[in-house]
This record gives sequence, structure tokens and C-alpha cells, in this order.
Amino acid sequence: MEKQDLLNKVFEKILTPDEAEQVLDYYLEHLTVADPPIHEMLGFSVKEWTAYAHSTPLDTIAEWRVNGWPNQCFVCKKEIVSDNYGWFPREYEGKYGLRHIVCPDPAISTV
Ligand SMILES: [Zn+2]
Repeated sequence: MEKQDLLNKVFEKILTPDEAEQVLDYYLEHLTVADPPIHEMLGFSVKEWTAYAHSTPLDTIAEWRVNGWPNQCFVCKKEIVSDNYGWFPREYEGKYGLRHIVCPDPAISTV
């Protein structure tokens, strides 16, 4: 199995998101324990793979890679630093965004 950069192929529209999903499925079925982890084989960062594992569409993740990740929680509107964890992606008002797993309690965060 060959390493490739799947998200880049989606961003460049070399693959549609559906085709990229098929590539992903193929790798999942055919990788062996001797191969590197699938996210490495397909050029995902751990953060990108985490978003994918939470069902974020591949074209959305590809766009975040190029144009920047959301940096605000769509629930509480406070900052999210996507390089730190404690968030998960969800569809919100027709597009994907990030939200805290547990939004900071304003009463606690001002202490
Ligand atoms: Zn929040």
C-alpha cells in the first residue's frame, strides 16, 4: 500500500469526497499490522483524523486544513484551540463547526 495525501486530493478536486471515502475503505480493509496507522498512510494529522472519526466530511476537513480550523465553540461562543482537544465537530446551521465537549462554566472560568 502506498502513502498518499487524501485530503489534498479532495481539496484539489482530484477525488470527490465519495471517491476519497472509497479509498479510505479500501485502505481500512487492506492494511495489515505491518503498515503504518491508516491516518499516516493517507496523510491525515491526528487532529484531522479525529475530526474524521467524528463524521466530519472529508471536504470540510480539507477546507479547514487550507483555510484554517474553526476557533470558536458554536454553543457557548468561547474560544476553541483546535490543537488542544476537548472539542468535537458537529453540523450546526448547515455547516460543520466545533464545540466543546464540556463548555466552560462562566462562573468557574472567571475565578
Ligand atoms: Zn463551548
